[in-house]
Amino acid sequence: MTKQKGNLFILSAPSGAGKSSLYKALLQTDPKVRISVSHTTRAPRTGEEHGREYFFVDVDSFLDMIAEDAFFEHAQVFDNYYGTSKQAIFDMLEQGLDVILEIDWQGARQVRELYPDAIGIFILPPSLSALEERLTGRGTDAADVIARRMSKAVNEMSHYDEYEYVIINDDFEEALQQLKAVFVANRSRTPLIQEIHSDLLNDLLS
Ligand code: 5GP
Repeated sequence: MTKQKGNLFILSAPSGAGKSSLYKALLQTDPKVRISVSHTTRAPRTGEEHGREYFFVDVDSFLDMIAEDAFFEHAQVFDNYYGTSKQAIFDMLEQGLDVILEIDWQGARQVRELYPDAIGIFILPPSLSALEERLTGRGTDAADVIARRMSKAVNEMSHYDEYEYVIINDDFEEALQQLKAVFVANRSRTPLIQEIHSDLLNDLLS
């Protein structure tokens, strides 16, 4: 695999930890960051756009892509397929952009196998009660539905130590600063500098 000029980040969190708000704020302020758009076989929901939330494809096309080894990772979630296509990601990395994969711990494991340089960031809520509040905040869900979401969240959180960075989203602005700092700091990693500034390094050391 050729060296890339951007970094690949894996961003995981239990639902309710505020991950989407954080990465959206990052995307707005850092022009070098992109989010990967997944392919899915599920139908678009109201307001969703092809190419923005997902690339919406039929099952046959998705299965063809699996056969062509076009996915970094893919999974079946409930009755639908979801996957991250390699091509789009490598194009962006090659341009020197940082790419965020918003995937769960299982997808993260698949990505690390294929791309060991991927940098994992895990977002945690400040407490279980805050998480529960955020999961119930939407209002009308039954207690058993909330309990199921909480147990799924706890299961997801149990994998936090497979990630290079952990950010606790208590104060949003502070968490955002930490997230930005991780992105900026990783642009100075030696292998990346060697790839981007090979001419300078040759000059300096000649
Ligand atoms: P939704 O249909 O609500 O948008 O997403 C359902 C689930 O699929 C979420 O848990 C979401 O994280 C997961 N998902 C979305 N895209 C991908 C992907 O590319 N790969 C994997 N493994 N999961 C995905």
